Amino acid sequence: MEAQLPKHIVMVPFMAQGHLIPFLELAHRILNHNPIFTITIVNSPLNINYLRSAIANGPSPPHQIHLKSLPFNSSDHGLPPNSENTDGLPITQIIKLFHASTALETPLRGFISDVISDEGSPPVCIISDVFMGWANEVAKSFGTVNYSFTTGGAYGSAAYSSIWMNLPHRNLANGGTHDEFPVPGFPESCRFSITQLHSYLIAADGKDEWSTFFQPQISLSLKSKGWLCNTVEEIENMGCETLRNYIKLPVWCIGPLLPQKMLKTNPGSGIVGRRSGKQPVIRPEECIEWLDSHPQDSVLYISFGSQNTISETQMMELAKGLEESKKPFIWVIRPPIGFDLKGEFKPEWLPLGFEDRIGKQGLMVHGWAPQLEILCHPSTGAFLSHCGWNSVMESLSQGVPIIGWPLAAEQGYNAKMLVEEMGVCVVLTRGVHGRIVKEKVKNVIEMVLDKSEERKGNDMRRKASEVGRLIRASVDGSSYKAMDEFLSTIL
Ligand code: UDP
Repeated sequence: MEAQLPKHIVMVPFMAQGHLIPFLELAHRILNHNPIFTITIVNSPLNINYLRSAIANGPSPPHQIHLKSLPFNSSDHGLPPNSENTDGLPITQIIKLFHASTALETPLRGFISDVISDEGSPPVCIISDVFMGWANEVAKSFGTVNYSFTTGGAYGSAAYSSIWMNLPHRNLANGGTHDEFPVPGFPESCRFSITQLHSYLIAADGKDEWSTFFQPQISLSLKSKGWLCNTVEEIENMGCETLRNYIKLPVWCIGPLLPQKMLKTNPGSGIVGRRSGKQPVIRPEECIEWLDSHPQDSVLYISFGSQNTISETQMMELAKGLEESKKPFIWVIRPPIGFDLKGEFKPEWLPLGFEDRIGKQGLMVHGWAPQLEILCHPSTGAFLSHCGWNSVMESLSQGVPIIGWPLAAEQGYNAKMLVEEMGVCVVLTRGVHGRIVKEKVKNVIEMVLDKSEERKGNDMRRKASEVGRLIRASVDGSSYKAMDEFLSTIL
């Protein structure tokens, strides 16, 4: 009998850490489910190196995951040399990177031709990022199919897609005001406000450099055979229904794409492996020791994700509010907006004598923290977060409620959903221009961390804990079933 060639899947993530790592986790998840597949993740050379080190730092890499470096020269696209990732890029350059990402199309075509020569048939499918919609055309021209993968949640992805495609805030003729406008696909009762939109989206008119990237790419992704979504059906009932209603395609909720150790049935213990190849500037053990010396659910963890920071004024008020709250905190801090994020941190960005005064109250982590370890620790009681979807899932999987400070992308929609649908979040402010005063910082922190029965924080913690239970149960439940269904459609 002739030996069967493995079924080949080609994955095309967008060029950002928050996309590369979930794609890698997706590859692991597919192979855990069915080792019959061979998976090649393609990207630019530096991103492939980044994935290589993430694999090397992770648990036993399966031999079926291959990495393929496609030629890409950032200088050809008006970007600084070696800019292949959103990491550290200012917003004006990020849009250039978005446009530049379409340059991977030609080398991807070359790679698929090679696969056909070597294996005699095209890959069983391409799984492309929703932002890499052009991969649909590639799949079609080689006689295979494309599925899109959204690394965000269902509600956030539905809002992001629909708002970019329809710019409903620019078209208020259907009813609504800037404070309350309907979004196609969403129930009439769920209205959005312009304050939840990023500044480049508020100004978008369909012809600007943001719209001319997002509209065609999302539109092409709407031609996929279906979408995979990094969420759990049970925690986003309304979001899943809305996403299906808007994109009119099958949606498989196969999340959460978190390391297995984070998904133990009994959370709040144990150290987990790092997901990225980036070197932490603080050893996980130092954070854990510090957390060990605090009572359960008492510490506030503050981080704005892998690539964001806040303004100098906001940083100052946040510091004052933290100090006045007297609550213990771990703060992942980077230079403020307008400065090199990877540059040296200057004490003048914080109140005079701040680091000396806070003493044992706070642990300042410069640059990068072992977030998973921190969120898994029982002393962590709340997360002040920019509401990036990975952070949201990491936090909720451990039952940790969120203080939201959305900054970019679909984070404003995530925060809205976390408040209105899940009841696990309170929004402190929004964006890098959002007003923030120390009194509000203090009040919100107290409200969320205080355990007295009547405090809102108690209710948020109870709800977050229930969401965490559903997330962990989905691994052998609905998400497992969804992966099964998806894989049976491509086999
Ligand atoms: N992260 C981390 N340490 C940090 C900051 C971020 O480990 O100091 C990780 C975090 O655990 C998450 C990812 O970086 O997995 C951030 O992804 P998210 O979707 O939350 O936000 P993004 O960085 O895409 O804005």
